[in-house]
Amino acid sequence: MTIPQPPRLVLWGRVLTDGRELPFCRVQVAAGRIDGVEAASRPQPSDVVVDAGWIAPGLIDLQVNGAGGVDLTSASDRPAAVCQVARTLALHGVTSFCPTIVSAPPEVILECLAAYGPGSGRTDRSHAADVLGTHVEGPFIDPQHRGIHAPEALRAASRDEVMHWLTAGPPAIVTLAPERPGALEAIDLLSAAGVVVSLGHSGADAEQTSTALGAGARMATHLFNGMPPLHHRRPGLVGALLASAAVLGLIADGVHLDPLVVDLVVNRAGSERVALVSDALAAAGEPPGMSRLGDQSLVSDGRTVRRADGTLAGCALLLDECLANVRAWLPDMPPGQLVDMATRTPARLLGLTRKGRVAAGCDADLVVLDADFHIQATVVRGEILA
Ligand code: ZN
Repeated sequence: MTIPQPPRLVLWGRVLTDGRELPFCRVQVAAGRIDGVEAASRPQPSDVVVDAGWIAPGLIDLQVNGAGGVDLTSASDRPAAVCQVARTLALHGVTSFCPTIVSAPPEVILECLAAYGPGSGRTDRSHAADVLGTHVEGPFIDPQHRGIHAPEALRAASRDEVMHWLTAGPPAIVTLAPERPGALEAIDLLSAAGVVVSLGHSGADAEQTSTALGAGARMATHLFNGMPPLHHRRPGLVGALLASAAVLGLIADGVHLDPLVVDLVVNRAGSERVALVSDALAAAGEPPGMSRLGDQSLVSDGRTVRRADGTLAGCALLLDECLANVRAWLPDMPPGQLVDMATRTPARLLGLTRKGRVAAGCDADLVVLDADFHIQATVVRGEILA
């Protein structure tokens, strides 16, 4: 008996992976995995030909509060919400992400951790981004640098609450302020459990930051936003993080950070230490207008989302547009290194060996980029999105 095999997908073109540009290759896909990347000067007749631009890994976003009109923290039907966000992201070249929840009462965080674990977001239709685990942003953050987080939802870190998170989740990433009560013990517990601790929404000084990094913190949450600016006599959180080995999350929407600052950070830290994030809200992928984050009403101008008083709440762009921005801002940076900041660097931070690269054995999550890094096509687990 012959069992019919699903059609084999092969893309032919130049490849961006591992910080480099490979010459023309055939990228062979089978059963949702890449099973070969071979140099080939010409395509075979059945190949999908990418004769301009590049084949690159699918984008990975470590900070997504919502998209397509859905806010993940306040959603009532969370399984449906994460599926909808996952489908919206896949349409923008994002093939993996961390659903991100803002400071909220303990029971809400536990419900979100239970609903947004790895593998949620899958539907019968496979055209949806993979969920890598929840990013819990807050509630152990500094009230003075809370941004849009609700003040009544902030609290000191407690061993009990962290242990409950580890049981319900565990989360993939936790953002906290290291100077807050109980924060160092929380960093210890979370790091020992393999959770990435990210520092943000904080007024920590350089010494407190170094102590937190020594305790296991490995990331900065939207560097420069939600923290005091870099001061030449008081380098603080920003200076200590820049000088460290931590992965630096940057919102490259052109509003949260000036392009010049993105250039400075990338030149200091290199693409192996920068993870572009969208910090996308429900308004992302939607026309300008009203939207929500948790219990708060917000307004989007199509690029950024603000509270009525003007406080920046997050981004209305998704990671594809942030990556295209950085391509335009840093035209001399090799394209392979640019792509790393939205693919390999976030994958490595989370310890994902099968994502963020175009290589045999990796998940067949791919994008086709044009010369300006606009997404031309997306492959999710081996299937091209129509
Ligand atoms: Zn934030």
